[in-house]
Amino acid sequence: MNTIISLCPFCGGTVTQKSVLETVFGGGHTASIQMNILVCEKCSERFYSLEQNNRLEALQAKLENQQTEGLQPTGVSFKVV
Ligand SMILES: [Zn+2]
Repeated sequence: MNTIISLCPFCGGTVTQKSVLETVFGGGHTASIQMNILVCEKCSERFYSLEQNNRLEALQAKLENQQTEGLQPTGVSFKVV
């Protein structure tokens, strides 16, 4: 089931489809995934279809379980200590 919306329920702004790089965190890892999602032009709120939401949750679950097969390493994340 896809929810098609044209106006942002939060601010009333126009919602358009955009290709964005989503970042998912889990198990100390970070993974990014390019997705075509609906984004509010005004408040930048992002809207996901159920399928997209499931995809992100599945990716997060994989990261938390240290299942990184099928994912390409793109570098090392650092934090300032
Ligand atoms: Zn909005």
